[in-house]
Amino acid sequence: MKNLYIDFDGVIMDTIGVTYDMLDRLEVDRKDPDKMKEFYSNLNWKQLLTLTPIINDGFNCLKKIFNSNKFNVAILTHVNSLDEAVAKINHIRKYFKDITIIPVPREISKTKICLSKDAILIDDYSGNLKEWESEGGIGIQFSRDLTKDKGFPVIDKLDKIIDMF
Ligand SMILES: [Mg+2]
Repeated sequence: MKNLYIDFDGVIMDTIGVTYDMLDRLEVDRKDPDKMKEFYSNLNWKQLLTLTPIINDGFNCLKKIFNSNKFNVAILTHVNSLDEAVAKINHIRKYFKDITIIPVPREISKTKICLSKDAILIDDYSGNLKEWESEGGIGIQFSRDLTKDKGFPVIDKLDKIIDMF
């Protein structure tokens, strides 16, 4: 079985879309890393996750991936605070009792928290995928727009991974 790591924000749930709307309403400059860090660190993640839509049937797709018995699956998610990690774990546990969840401090590369060699990462952020591939891993980009050439195989629904390996 291949090790498969799946990003959370922008892949399973649309936390990016919801928080970017909030940032626009608050007129926060998204290019200012300090302001962004402050915003994400102070966010009420428990509340946010109850308001956030699931992307393209993400949790059901995860179940299908599990049931395929092709992968050792873990959710690999960057977090800005311990509160964010706790809220995400509690939220994911409403859907899954038995999935591995790995919260990664924002400042740390996803390649530095687990062994990326020969493992698959599904992520919406190409920067993470570039790092992953530079450490010998396999990068798959998640995007709701399949038309753009992003330099990685692109999927818009998580269960598409089942037939790729
Ligand atoms: Mg993401």
